[in-house]
Amino acid sequence: RLSSSHLCRALLGDRFLLRPRRKMASHIVGYPRMGPKRELKFALESFWDGKSSADDLQKVATDLRCSIWKQMTDVGIKYIPSNTFSYYDQVLDATAMLGAVPERYNYTGGEIGFDIYFSMARGNASVPAMEMTKWFDTNYHFIVPELGPNTKFSYSSHKAVSEYKEAKALGIETIPVLIGPVTYLMLSKPAKGVEKSFAPLSLLESILPIYKEVIAELKAAGASWIQFDEPTLVLDLESHQLEAFTKAYTELESSLSGLNVLIETYFADVPAEAYKIITALKGVSGFGFDFIRGAKTLDLVKSAGFPAGKYLFAGVVDGRNIWANDLASSFSTLQALEAIVGKDKLVVSTSCSLMHTAVDLVNETKLDNEIKSWLAFAAQKVVEVNALAKALADKLVVSTSCSLMHTAVDLVNETKLDNEIKSWLAFAAQKVVEVNALAKALAGQKDEAFFSANAAAQSSRKSSPRVTNEEVQKAAAALKGSDHRRATNVSARLDAQQKKLNLPILPTTTIGSFPQTMDLRRVRREYKANKISEEEYVKAIKEEINKVVKLQEELDIDVLVHGEPERNDMVEYFGEQLSGFAFTVNGWVQSYGSRCVKPPIIYGDVSRPKAMTVFWSKMAQSMTARPMKGMLTGPVTILNWSFVRNDQPRFETCYQIALSIKKEVEDLEAAGIQVIQIDEAALREGLPLRKSEQAFYLDWAVHSFRITNCGVQDTTQIHTHMCYSNFNDIIHSIINMDADVITIENSRSDEKLLSVFREGVKYGAGIGPGVYDIHSPRIPSTEEIADRINKMLAVLETNILWVNPDCGLKTRKYAEVNPALTNMVSAAKVLRTQL
Ligand code: GLN
Ligand code: ZN
Repeated sequence: RLSSSHLCRALLGDRFLLRPRRKMASHIVGYPRMGPKRELKFALESFWDGKSSADDLQKVATDLRCSIWKQMTDVGIKYIPSNTFSYYDQVLDATAMLGAVPERYNYTGGEIGFDIYFSMARGNASVPAMEMTKWFDTNYHFIVPELGPNTKFSYSSHKAVSEYKEAKALGIETIPVLIGPVTYLMLSKPAKGVEKSFAPLSLLESILPIYKEVIAELKAAGASWIQFDEPTLVLDLESHQLEAFTKAYTELESSLSGLNVLIETYFADVPAEAYKIITALKGVSGFGFDFIRGAKTLDLVKSAGFPAGKYLFAGVVDGRNIWANDLASSFSTLQALEAIVGKDKLVVSTSCSLMHTAVDLVNETKLDNEIKSWLAFAAQKVVEVNALAKALADKLVVSTSCSLMHTAVDLVNETKLDNEIKSWLAFAAQKVVEVNALAKALAGQKDEAFFSANAAAQSSRKSSPRVTNEEVQKAAAALKGSDHRRATNVSARLDAQQKKLNLPILPTTTIGSFPQTMDLRRVRREYKANKISEEEYVKAIKEEINKVVKLQEELDIDVLVHGEPERNDMVEYFGEQLSGFAFTVNGWVQSYGSRCVKPPIIYGDVSRPKAMTVFWSKMAQSMTARPMKGMLTGPVTILNWSFVRNDQPRFETCYQIALSIKKEVEDLEAAGIQVIQIDEAALREGLPLRKSEQAFYLDWAVHSFRITNCGVQDTTQIHTHMCYSNFNDIIHSIINMDADVITIENSRSDEKLLSVFREGVKYGAGIGPGVYDIHSPRIPSTEEIADRINKMLAVLETNILWVNPDCGLKTRKYAEVNPALTNMVSAAKVLRTQL
């Protein structure tokens, strides 16, 4: 193959000028660390178990980093990130960098090693781990820094520099990525003892010197760019928080001189006020914006403009899902931006780090080719970014070397020259044709084949009968705008239910699952692999259910569960039985540390071909005279824990799932199940980051929940269960769900949850704030549980309080569950005699 300049010379000699053609630059915000087959997970867990050495772990990590950098280099990415690898969490890496180790880990200085690092992440024999919380609105959890007025900072982890150098040694130039100083502090919490009085942001002056040391070292190592991730910029910030950005980057300006600085944002659009402030920063050369979740970003750039001479990193390839990019649509977004920013200042990028999507589609052996053609995991998204950058290459300007006035006019008028010689010549008229032909020949490095395959996939997705189910579309559309709720109010319903159920005060129950033993997992696995027959499988599960029912009767629990032995996962179980869902074999996404989740893919309209749980629930109910709870996962939780289709609004997909769950609820009721629990463990998780969008979400989420059970009789008792302790801000939405009973995870602080009722919020329905923490192997005593119930009784009316653990028991052992539940029931009984 001839390069463009060779081609030019071969065709035309040196008579033409060619400006070199450059593709638009490309950038990746960050990349998954786990590896395509979760190599890091297994290396970490084996190291933690003492089965392999630190060297072994480092070797796996080095290989993963190296292969990621090489892969991006081979694809042609210009700005490749480094320091986006982590042994546990990138925020913990920043804590290590700053030496901000909480006192209890006895850190005495020097480079932080695995010891201190993993103690902070996971705790050790003598001290608990640092707290973990959700990273913005993703399912990733980071380690929350604990800072106080006495926290000492020192440059204690050179990881950013060593990763940069490691790539450089491979001949790969990277952009080192750091969590920005303001985001770091805003994600921190005040240390123990100063909870009420201390604002971590006040430490800005104290951490900037460490940032300066890191910057100086990166500069010395040869870095030419540095990326600061400042995603807190997309939140609703107060003015003193916004000022912190100006303060931080003004203070860093002189250290940063000579470096290109990128401030990267993601997960939403940057509010106009914040946009104004950051784009005015002098020492910053580029800004990364999310054009996917940041639905208003393009309009903002259009209306507010963009500072001349700065780079705009346009996040047009979605890092939060698994769908192939609509290249044609991204292309037009980029063209619009190009007109504002200028070609050489626009960089094609991902909307956020690709760590929030699965790693590589090549490892999916079970997905059919049609669905595969609609998908792109991290490795494929890198290729998409590059293809867009190539497609937007400088349009080559082919020109003549000087005015054509210096040559003859037109060869056609040459009647005397023989054809051979004529074929060697070109006069002005022919040169015009040559210029055009050359430009055409060189036009578009755009990979036409890639673009047209992409367009074909997009249109196959639009027209596939597997995606569209008109009946479902119609039914879901009909739900919009109308209210669905049960005809009778909750207190009348509770009366009707009590007449039928005849429960004691402080009724006891559990959340659903019972311990999942190795045997049980093996039975499910073997059934799935067709190694045991359906008959054998049903027999084994039936035995398990019977065991759990008998146990609960012995414990004297009032409302029973079947224990969920047939379920591997509360979303997957339903997804596998609903139409419109697909499942990957390696589509893992990091949740925290070495833990990964494998979300189902919702690709089409959702419907329920047949009943999903009735068989098991009916069987379980037949084993006991006590009420047996039917156990379902709610539509919002199924939605929030899946990769959701991006070709229709989320609420539409949620309504479709709600309709399927509604059918299941009705079938359970018809089968004689009197109590049905519809778990909405993840309802709070889907809350949008920006206040302006929260009411809308809560409205359709709560509506979806009500749709599932608005049709049942008054005497059918609807329970729901929610995880995560932060409910106070959504309590009115919880009330609006109009469930008869809610059980709530409450392990860390009763105080927080109860304060909302103390402040006068009325909750008329039944409520069961978890009375002990199932996340810990500790067995609570009867007194301790009674004490907690008493605290609740001080705030809540006696007749609405339920007694239950704070979540499912799936991850516990029977040796823990038996005594804990025994104590729980006896605490309830003791208190009943006193009321
Ligand atoms: N019913 C489910 C269980 O008990 C609820 C799990 C959850 O809330 N995460 O396992
Ligand atoms: Zn839970």
